[in-house]
Amino acid sequence: MSSLQDRIGSSMRAAIVGVGLLAGAADLMAAEPPDTRRPNILFILSDDHSLQTIGAYNTRLSEFCRQQQVTPNIDRLAAEGALFENSFCASSLCSPSRASILTGMFPHVHGVKRLSSPIAAGVWTFPQSMRDAGYETALIGKWHLGNNPAEMGLDYFQYTEGQGGAYWNPDFVGPDGKKQYLGHITHVTTDLGIQWLRQRDSDRPFMLMLHHKAPHRPWMPSSQRYHWLADVDVPEPETLFDDYTGRASPASGQRMRMSDFKMGHDLKVFAPDEFPSPYSRMTRGQRAQWDAYYRPRNEAFARANLTGDDLFRWQYQQYMKDYLRCVKDVDDSVGRMLEFLRETGLEDNTVVIYTSDQGFYNGEHGWFDKRWIYEESVHMPFIIRWPGVVRPGSRPQEMIQNIDYAPTLMQIAGADAPEGIHGRSFLPILQGQTPEDWRSSIYYHYYYDAPDHNVPRHDGIRTGRYTLVNFYTTGEWELFDLENDPHQLRSLHDDPAYASTAAELKEQLQRLRNHYGVPEKDYTPTPAQPTGAAR
Ligand code: CA
Repeated sequence: MSSLQDRIGSSMRAAIVGVGLLAGAADLMAAEPPDTRRPNILFILSDDHSLQTIGAYNTRLSEFCRQQQVTPNIDRLAAEGALFENSFCASSLCSPSRASILTGMFPHVHGVKRLSSPIAAGVWTFPQSMRDAGYETALIGKWHLGNNPAEMGLDYFQYTEGQGGAYWNPDFVGPDGKKQYLGHITHVTTDLGIQWLRQRDSDRPFMLMLHHKAPHRPWMPSSQRYHWLADVDVPEPETLFDDYTGRASPASGQRMRMSDFKMGHDLKVFAPDEFPSPYSRMTRGQRAQWDAYYRPRNEAFARANLTGDDLFRWQYQQYMKDYLRCVKDVDDSVGRMLEFLRETGLEDNTVVIYTSDQGFYNGEHGWFDKRWIYEESVHMPFIIRWPGVVRPGSRPQEMIQNIDYAPTLMQIAGADAPEGIHGRSFLPILQGQTPEDWRSSIYYHYYYDAPDHNVPRHDGIRTGRYTLVNFYTTGEWELFDLENDPHQLRSLHDDPAYASTAAELKEQLQRLRNHYGVPEKDYTPTPAQPTGAAR
């Protein structure tokens, strides 16, 4: 790293966010070559993409993903940039996470605790400030918030409604209203992103948020992927047949086991009553291609007459293959975007970020979905390439959170986030200078106690070694030692040997609640809360 960056790094250790500092940093950065002063930003957000299914992460399915070339483009991005090993969400659900990304705040401030709610009036969002700083801003793809993107600081938008739109022939809502596009949503999202990049104001830096629906449920891949992986067995997790002993009651009371899949909607087994929604938008040609793969598969499934564990294993395989096919489509999109940047000479002056709104279960504990503070759910992939600044192939271990994205992006843009937001810029970490007082634990709070998956509200903390969970609606606690129990199978909360650890972690949890100003009513037992719209 250059002495210039050392100077920026050391001054940031002293005071991370502040107008005076940032003005100073801007002056220092003015001495940099022009192409690193105000880089473009391409922010790629997929939906429900787990760490397990990215080759570059060293997790359960990484080796399989590398062998099968599931994510070669995302892996290349990691090789050319930084991969954060400890990146977490503030609340593991689509809308709350997206609101935290935009505002740098936890849900009790931005107000999006459940699905599709609006960000509360008057809450700052980073695209507004980025536009004020001279950037042209755009959002293409999934939105899932109850606000108009134009009011959130986006100069241009094409968003899909509700959960994220149909996989086939989706509608997008733009400044001129709603329009249907022919094709697979991952391809359409990519096309619209490239189209906007071609027509943008080339005199200004850009910030493009490219938000994929995939690989969200119901995992409908593009047609060139149907037969891919058909004859491959996806490795099963050790915890596939978890019996949920050793934990508080919520782990066994949930409804997110793969036996809870809708056979038609999720696994594409013919079930006429479930059929209309995902398939009615397909053209006859698209449907014929679909049937050419799924019909023989379903006929073989019917002949096999599977039950019990065999059926559960079949459900896992089919779920994972469709999930990985959707991931592969997203990876292709990343490759197209990287190629576009290269062809148009934008590569060296564009920060590219790949992340997802939370982690996801890929059969671990027998589950799909997210929601928990537990490992697979609370982790978010975060990969960033910034030529000349971020060291290629680096793997920072610092704990970052989605509340940090907004202040970090603002500092990358040479501007400022307002004082008082929960997140903290990790630009110094990108520059190889970790602030001495960087966080050693993260706060987490999940609010959406809807009956569909039946995961109760909870908050907690995750440190480098422990996870402490407070299921305050049932009055239960859990404590996991990740060093000795990485799969989180045995809560030590009631183990006398861990009494002092539990007490210390509870103090830390309360300190974080106080630090972020979480209202006491948000984590005390109350009568059942009314729930938002399910989906
Ligand atoms: Ca999601």
